[in-house]
Amino acid sequence: MQIQTLAVGPLMTNCYLLQDETAGVCAVIDPGDEGARIARAVADSGCALQFILLTHGHYDHFTGLAELLRQYPDTPVYIQPNDAADGAGGAYSLKAPRLDDAHQRWYREGDTLTLGSLTIRVLETPGHSQGSVCLVVGDVIFSGDTLFLASCGRTDFPGGDYRAMLQSLARLGRLEGDYRVYPGHDRSTTLDYERQHNPYMRHALSLS
Ligand SMILES: [Zn+2]
Repeated sequence: MQIQTLAVGPLMTNCYLLQDETAGVCAVIDPGDEGARIARAVADSGCALQFILLTHGHYDHFTGLAELLRQYPDTPVYIQPNDAADGAGGAYSLKAPRLDDAHQRWYREGDTLTLGSLTIRVLETPGHSQGSVCLVVGDVIFSGDTLFLASCGRTDFPGGDYRAMLQSLARLGRLEGDYRVYPGHDRSTTLDYERQHNPYMRHALSLS
């Protein structure tokens, strides 16, 4: 497994290129901006792009999507339905992209996706948005805007919910073992570090 990080756009969103280099396949997580640059990274990897995964439906995580799809037109795009333009989150001011049926895929709690020898598991972690998910692959969590280094995503956007955020953080904190954490913004971290130093996670874990 290889993970390449591209900080894209004015908000420096972390776009991840997840590869099973042995199988020659890859996935893009959160093409937040600079679609042409992401497409170049896919091409340079030599891996076939299998799918695009969105951790949630905020524009700074998908602004590069249209350009990426222009260059890789047959790629399905996954999102949790609560954050989709036509889903329960349809009233959001920050809307997910409206995709045609050829590209739109949904994932939900417990779903798994296969990328070569890798299995990607979906954890629903609402709070930052109703449809926020974390993606677990081996000992790695792509945490979107749910869990950040010593912080968590803001909950003051439409669909945000601080109590739900605390439940999601507690859920992550109670996963067994340690994980490397790749968030939607800022530097990567580990789950053990966050259990010890993240005030939001510590508070969340103390509640029950
Ligand atoms: Zn966000």
